[in-house]
Amino acid sequence: MIVILEESIIKDTDRYHALLNQLEQYPDVEARPHVVKGKETDLVEIYLIGNTVALDRSAIEDMDGVERVVKVSRDYRILGRHADDDRKTGFEYNGVTFSQDNLEIFAGLCAVDNPKNVEKMMRACRDEGLRCTRMGAYKPRTNPYSFQGLGADCLPWVFELAGKYGIKVIAMEVTSEACIEEIALALELAGNPTGVMLQVGTRNTQNFELLKSIGKQTEFPVLLKRGFGITLEESLNAAEYLASEGNDQVIFCLRGIKSNMGDPHRNLVDFGQVPTIRRLTRMPVCVDPSHSVGRRFFAPDQIQDIYHCTAQGVIAGANMVLVDFHPDPPSALVDAAQALHIDELPRFIEDIEITRNAYLQRKKLASQYS
Ligand code: PEP
Ligand code: MN
Repeated sequence: MIVILEESIIKDTDRYHALLNQLEQYPDVEARPHVVKGKETDLVEIYLIGNTVALDRSAIEDMDGVERVVKVSRDYRILGRHADDDRKTGFEYNGVTFSQDNLEIFAGLCAVDNPKNVEKMMRACRDEGLRCTRMGAYKPRTNPYSFQGLGADCLPWVFELAGKYGIKVIAMEVTSEACIEEIALALELAGNPTGVMLQVGTRNTQNFELLKSIGKQTEFPVLLKRGFGITLEESLNAAEYLASEGNDQVIFCLRGIKSNMGDPHRNLVDFGQVPTIRRLTRMPVCVDPSHSVGRRFFAPDQIQDIYHCTAQGVIAGANMVLVDFHPDPPSALVDAAQALHIDELPRFIEDIEITRNAYLQRKKLASQYS
């Protein structure tokens, strides 16, 4: 059960403590507070955990300071979408809104290689009106002898260039707790010219200690990739790990699953599950066509598979597209086979606009029939 407090009730006030005290009187029930970061003020929700079946919902709703009560009907207590649950989807970060109603494109380098290429990428994003990009500094690689990313060394110039081109949010994978500290320090030293969305890679989706570390901090939102060899439910539980530790600013990313049936693509594209995740949870949903498809294949209609798969996600209501670009794809240090050429960015965005508009029309049609 989730007890949503009135906006005026903030943590550590007398009214808050009186209410918490009342809720703690129920036997075998633990009252666990959770702060939801808001645009202007933080909101407080109290999660009642344990033997809540017999609790009288209306009695709790009558308590001083309670706005309403939501009955939890799924495992994903914080991020889930429950019956009668009209809590907001998504969040705002560094001036950009991420929700189940918006769409943001994160086009960028899978792996940061040099300042020249980073600058070209940032400039291309700015010229196309994008406010976000992707820049990999820490790369988890299958082969220990492969390039592992430039790490903390590149952060000062990556952040400075982002500021120069008005980039508000950079998606950046983190592979350990130390990466978060390095990012926070580099941002501070650079004077916070941009923001970072911490990315949990598919290989780390069930690295519970990393999830706990990321969940404990609320400075940075998180992009959690679906695990490529586990069930959707297991991946959604991984997202809930982040929220249960305190960070509910989470975007869930579909990136294909490992399956020989995915051939000839790198992974079996799973973008048909965009609506499923929106139904089960309140998380904005991202699609990553680059790691799903893995190659610059063209269909006979002259449209690349990466574009086709992006369209599948966007027409189903995706809220974010994470996609690899490079000024010279064959020379990219990681995932060279899948990066799109930087000159294609305007066309790629135009292609997305077609399917985004089609999705909005489909939504309008559905509302006329409901
Ligand atoms: C990436 O986005 O660069 C990446 C490594 O993705 P994934 O974790 O989905 O393989
Ligand atoms: Mn990659």
